[in-house]
Amino acid sequence: MIEVKKLVKSFGSLTVLKGVDLTVAEKEVVVLLGASGSGKSTLLRCLNFLETLDSGEIRIDGQVIDPKKTDLNKFRAEVGMVFQHFNLFPHKTALENVIEAPIFVKKVPPSQAREEGYALLEKVGMKDKADVYPDMLSGGQKQRVAIARALAMKPRIMLFDEPTSALDPELVGEVLQVMKQLAKEGMTMVVVTHEMGFAREVADRAVFMDGGVILEQGQPSEFFTNPRHERTRQFLQSIL
Ligand code: ADP
Ligand code: MG
Repeated sequence: MIEVKKLVKSFGSLTVLKGVDLTVAEKEVVVLLGASGSGKSTLLRCLNFLETLDSGEIRIDGQVIDPKKTDLNKFRAEVGMVFQHFNLFPHKTALENVIEAPIFVKKVPPSQAREEGYALLEKVGMKDKADVYPDMLSGGQKQRVAIARALAMKPRIMLFDEPTSALDPELVGEVLQVMKQLAKEGMTMVVVTHEMGFAREVADRAVFMDGGVILEQGQPSEFFTNPRHERTRQFLQSIL
């Protein structure tokens, strides 16, 4: 579904991605690991064309995406993104957060958007908080609303950038549970996370980034128990 080839991305003189090759198949769940600063967020942002590429290419369903020729807004609607810090609109209720983009970007009729919005909030266990403002929600609840909001655009793929890193430990499980359910339903997902339990249980593939390239990848059972590279070994030890 997604094919990244020789992706290079620099910020000024700092080359963050030094030729990344990555493919993601339909319905695949890929967990992206790597030390802080290794370029994980930048890679996700490139996949969503929030960053321009210096060189290399990204293919979706076999087609090269050329930012100059493609309607990036339409394309971005197909890629849902969930961030570490939720980024909910503070002056909108949970439901209003979920239905904003469908109504204003996709021109979905408001009554239909509301109906779908309630269904999505129910899916993430937040229907009873539909009329509540983000301030009144816990971090875990905010993140579940943020997931519902991303799903409201009916994306074909979901990108998660450390979705549980800002949460108190006791709230991590409820968010991972929602992500697990999504994976089970066949959503294609790329997840940056250091939650090893989730990675082992849910991921089809673990990918380790180091020094601006993908150093190693494999099935979680193999990857976590028997990493091939010393760098991978060190990293896995550091997060245990
Ligand atoms: P990770 O998510 O793996 O921690 P990032 O992709 O956020 O890594 O960052 C990789 C490197 O790129 C870091 O050194 C970071 O400071 C730098 N970087 C990221 N975004 C920008 C930006 N917009 N401008 C300048 N430097 C950036
Ligand atoms: Mg990051």
